[in-house]
Amino acid sequence: MATIFSRIIAGEIPSYKVAEDDKFFAFLDINPLVKGHTLVVPKQEVDYIFDLNDEDLAAMHVFAKKVARAIEKAFPCKKVGEAVIGLEVPHAHIHLIPMQKESDMLF
Ligand code: 5GP
Repeated sequence: MATIFSRIIAGEIPSYKVAEDDKFFAFLDINPLVKGHTLVVPKQEVDYIFDLNDEDLAAMHVFAKKVARAIEKAFPCKKVGEAVIGLEVPHAHIHLIPMQKESDMLF
């Protein structure tokens, strides 16, 4: 069954798109921890990020790194942190979170 993220990628559910290529999609989290909190997802339907094969997992991180650089320009911050959570939506995703100080990493 299509997850909510697949429906976002297909444009059936509106989202604020940050970036896209042939394999991955990035959009703002609807319930952000901080301004600029972005989700990176594969277009392929995979439940959890570590279910991706090694090649796609690496490609997802290369894509996420490009998105992180763009976020740093749009939302000036010290670093963009990466978190893998995945308790709510069973579609692989990375959280990219702009951080102003080290303690922001301890959420
Ligand atoms: P996790 O599965 O990693 O625990 O969290 C899933 C994330 O997806 C949450 O941060 C939640 O706010 C976000 N999310 C859930 N549904 C939607 C949606 O319909 N649109 C957007 N933009 N984000 C969503």
